[in-house]
Amino acid sequence: MTALAKIDAPRREDRQNRELLTLEQSLALDTESAMGLYSAHLNRYMLQVFDILGLAQMDIESAQGVEIVLRDGRRILDYSGGFGVLGLGHNHPRIIGAERLCHERKVLDCIKIAPHKLQGALAYNISRFLPKPLNVSFLAVSGTEANEAAMKICERVQTPKGKTKFLCFKGAFHGKTHGPLSLTTATDVQSGFIMGVPKENVVFATYGDIASVRDVIARETGDKGNNIIAGIVETIRGTSCHVPRAGFLTEFARVCRENDILTIFDEVKVGMGRTGKFCAFQHEDVVPDVVTLAKTLGGGKRELGAMVTSQTLFDRAYGNKNDCNLHSSSFSGMGETCAVGIETLNVLQDERLIERAAVMGNYLRDGLEKLQEKYPRKIVSVRGEGCFQAIELNFGQQLAEKAMDIRTNPLFVTYQTVLIGAMARELYERHGILVHFQPGARDLLHFMPPYVVNEDQIVRLLDALDDVLGRGIADATVRFVVKNIKRVLG
Ligand code: PLP
Repeated sequence: MTALAKIDAPRREDRQNRELLTLEQSLALDTESAMGLYSAHLNRYMLQVFDILGLAQMDIESAQGVEIVLRDGRRILDYSGGFGVLGLGHNHPRIIGAERLCHERKVLDCIKIAPHKLQGALAYNISRFLPKPLNVSFLAVSGTEANEAAMKICERVQTPKGKTKFLCFKGAFHGKTHGPLSLTTATDVQSGFIMGVPKENVVFATYGDIASVRDVIARETGDKGNNIIAGIVETIRGTSCHVPRAGFLTEFARVCRENDILTIFDEVKVGMGRTGKFCAFQHEDVVPDVVTLAKTLGGGKRELGAMVTSQTLFDRAYGNKNDCNLHSSSFSGMGETCAVGIETLNVLQDERLIERAAVMGNYLRDGLEKLQEKYPRKIVSVRGEGCFQAIELNFGQQLAEKAMDIRTNPLFVTYQTVLIGAMARELYERHGILVHFQPGARDLLHFMPPYVVNEDQIVRLLDALDDVLGRGIADATVRFVVKNIKRVLG
């Protein structure tokens, strides 16, 4: 009797108990069944949010480039861009090609006890886009993990000197795992959690304000120098699409260096070409100690992040055989994921997508500014860089501000959410356009097109915005409330 023969054939009742869905069945699910499964087995409250925005029932057939094709044939333009994941767009043919090549050649995906040649190749390619001496990577599977790795490498170097604090910016966002979650004052993401880094180990400055950075450092400096491990900064603020004035990042790095504080530039959202440079900090002449990447690095199809630093810093943190694996992760550097990362960087270069992000971004920007001229009372500002743009809408802030502190008033926040939700829903239902907004900045509509976006697609967005703004926000809001009346009243 062979060993395998000892396994009983699956009994009928076992099979009935499980009733697994096959992949074919899963792909063929109708929207109602799919929503039922999502509600029962994932997150029913998130589904309600999608439902309020009119998006829960999107019956998606396929996606390519900027377009999502619905089963009824409608073609949706995706300006939400996976919140930054989709720099190359959906299903870029060369990314699919890279995956296919891996399948055809049965490329090894996972080996933990030997190096994988694609890991080194990916890390080399990343270094080719970054200034010296940033040429050593740790491969992660998300932005927050890349930031965890950045925090830890800085801690390893600085805590032996007695340093204990991180310098961050009020309202920042660096991810939702316990470490990066600690590095913000944004209570909407922190509420109810014990911080991974204790509150007393984090100090905050005002974003874009170098005097505030100096003040914080001065406050943290005693006879033996300051006690700050590292300063972490979003090179463009993701939630509010705030582009700091030119020179801020350079000054920040200089002040930090003068005070023996390491610098971490978080490029998770805006790196990988989105702003018209590989990293947004490359608009200036500055090099941080550590940079973090993710989102578009995975080509829109893989979970991939990276923490990149210098050999010198890496050696100081992990430079011996005992410590070299102090920071690691099971899924770091899977073969096919690396293949996709390698191909993504080649696509960026071969198709001149970074340059394209700048050109298309400017085209979008010009159009948004023209809309602002047309609707000066509705659009307060246009902001952003390259293919990361946003418009700030005036939802009666000026009036409301006279009566109350609108930033902290829950009623105003709810009111703003209804208005911005109404705008997003109108753009989708009337014009087949997906946009997004962030809980931390409810007066901003964000546009993050893939860099492959073309002029016609941008014109379609601008016309849609013109139509919705021309009809009036009140009009959109009434329809939004009527459609959601039960939920609003409930
Ligand atoms: N840092 C920034 C600036 C981000 O915008 C994000 C996510 O949006 C993160 C970090 C976290 O990345 P992830 O969601 O991949 O963990």
